[in-house]
Amino acid sequence: MILWAIVVGIIVLLYIGYILSKKKIVEYYNPFKPFPMMTYSKCDLCGFVFKRPFQRGDYIMKDIGPCPKRKGDWKGRMIIEGIYYEKIVTPKEKVYQKLVEKWQ
Ligand SMILES: [Zn+2]
Repeated sequence: MILWAIVVGIIVLLYIGYILSKKKIVEYYNPFKPFPMMTYSKCDLCGFVFKRPFQRGDYIMKDIGPCPKRKGDWKGRMIIEGIYYEKIVTPKEKVYQKLVEKWQ
């Protein structure tokens, strides 16, 4: 009886592990996985560049506040210059890029 309980327990644990690993694989290979949307802003005075995840209400030429870098008494404004999807490079693509670099 105890032996059966141990066997069933091991099977259940293996099954849970299998489901978790499969879920991870599905997440990794999902072609419909959305890329993170980023907002690119630049200071109009010193050219300081700042990137952050897109927030609802962002638009091109929006003033998102003062520049964190000070230049004398003047302080530039951070203006949104671009909104884009960031490309995620998968480990497979990294290996391919390295091979291409070797051949060149
Ligand atoms: Zn600035």
